[in-house]
Amino acid sequence: MADREKAGGRRLGGKCLCGAVHYEVADEFVYAANCHCSNCRRATGSAFKPFAGIERDKLTLTKGAENLLIFGDEIGNDVRCGLCGSFLYSMVRDGAYVHVAMGTLVDAPSIRPNKHIFVGSKAPWFAITDDLPQYAEHADGGPSLKP
Ligand SMILES: [Zn+2]
Ligand SMILES: [Zn+2]
Repeated sequence: MADREKAGGRRLGGKCLCGAVHYEVADEFVYAANCHCSNCRRATGSAFKPFAGIERDKLTLTKGAENLLIFGDEIGNDVRCGLCGSFLYSMVRDGAYVHVAMGTLVDAPSIRPNKHIFVGSKAPWFAITDDLPQYAEHADGGPSLKP
């Protein structure tokens, strides 16, 4: 609770399917996107992964550290609940940022995914039906498919 007061801003809760793992994250995401790359599709078992990025120190594990299943290394990994398998977040950018799998948030964040990335490797059976910008790969590199 002290941390919550010290941080000042709004905090969002998140948890896995079985409830063994809980986290808290500041409602201060820097970016959010829907990633259609094949890794995100496999990791989620879905057409794409909606994720939101934030500095690593703004996310706190509040329950279930002993139950984590971590795939990857210290500075680049996917973190899941080891009991139910929910994909919670990833450590990225040499460990400086985390990408929260937005489906595990309990509270609604202020940010919304505002682009589709890695559309070049999108599943052929899925159609994007919104008007958000689409990028073949990362938004900051490679051509935009739909400016
Ligand atoms: Zn779980
Ligand atoms: Zn991806």
